[in-house]
Amino acid sequence: MSAVSSDTAAYADRLARVRAAMEAQEIDVLLLSVGADLPWLTGYEAMPLERLTMLVAHRDGDATLVVPRLEAPRVVERPGVFTIRAWEETDDPVALVAALSGRAETAAIGDTTWARFVLELQREMPSTVFSRATAVTGALRAHKDAAEIEALRRAGAAADRVATALQGGDIALVGRTEAEVSAELSARLLAEGHHQVNFAIVAAGENAASPHHDASARVIRSGEVVLCDFGGTLDGYCSDITRCVSIGDPSPEVADAYAVLFEAQATAVKAATIGTPCEVVDGAARDIIAAAGFGENFIHRTGHGIGVEAHEDPYIVKGNAALLEHGHAFSIEPGIYLAGRFGLRLEDIVVATSAGPDAMNRVDHQLVVVEA
Ligand code: ZN
Ligand code: ZN
Ligand code: ZN
Repeated sequence: MSAVSSDTAAYADRLARVRAAMEAQEIDVLLLSVGADLPWLTGYEAMPLERLTMLVAHRDGDATLVVPRLEAPRVVERPGVFTIRAWEETDDPVALVAALSGRAETAAIGDTTWARFVLELQREMPSTVFSRATAVTGALRAHKDAAEIEALRRAGAAADRVATALQGGDIALVGRTEAEVSAELSARLLAEGHHQVNFAIVAAGENAASPHHDASARVIRSGEVVLCDFGGTLDGYCSDITRCVSIGDPSPEVADAYAVLFEAQATAVKAATIGTPCEVVDGAARDIIAAAGFGENFIHRTGHGIGVEAHEDPYIVKGNAALLEHGHAFSIEPGIYLAGRFGLRLEDIVVATSAGPDAMNRVDHQLVVVEA
């Protein structure tokens, strides 16, 4: 899946680190199905269908990828990492996974495994205590190595080129619907090298007060601020950027609110140094917004981790006292939302490094005015 980690050695290294974490947490077997843990660990992404795909990885022993026979040709074999066990249409894959799990006392199962399979496995393995795989994989996935950081940088640069087109007025806004602009942002993300678009929020005027607004049939008008939050996956790693543009000069109220947001975002980025608690980074943005009287209008956390998944550990949120470490990658995306009127958000992806916060997005952070 990932060009970055296409060599088997990289996957073998990840599996070794996973086994060390299993050892520390006394997990006997790791069970991974649909979701991002499996491709991160093996390079293979399970098809989200009714047939079970599941990696059975023992702490002390083998790793076996249980996969439907007809999907087995999609798997790139990784000798020394895992072996393939294809199951036929008349086999019982749940019984197969249970048998491969042996007498595991503890199993960590992928957080996004379908409930159907979790329930069936719990019935087949009544003496096994199940827990969430994220407890094993989350901290490991959060720590990006040099190749992963470069992949995030390429994804960020590709998203920046789309944002540059938006700010340069190359993407027509007035008279088009939010959905049409969303489709163009998506097409441009693909044209810039993403192999998949994960989202392309376009919210005009009062619609931007809803942070996850669905791009709609609403026509964009002159004089409005348009919030665009888009990202995709490139070489297996995600981009995610938000920029707002004003069609014509913004009102003084919008300009003032944006100045607060700009300062809050820049301050939080600067605060995102190794050893800083995640919640302190959140507070760096929140305090500035609150001091300006918009505390009630910043209705979400400051950021989320990013990597093979668009949202993953670490979360930049009050209550998360975990310290930022070298290689942690996350968004810094404060917002100010006034219901029924307007919404503003400014988002970059940042990596904590020994040289300080390293932004994957460099495109203009101001509220750029485009032609009416
Ligand atoms: Zn979001
Ligand atoms: Zn975003
Ligand atoms: Zn984001």
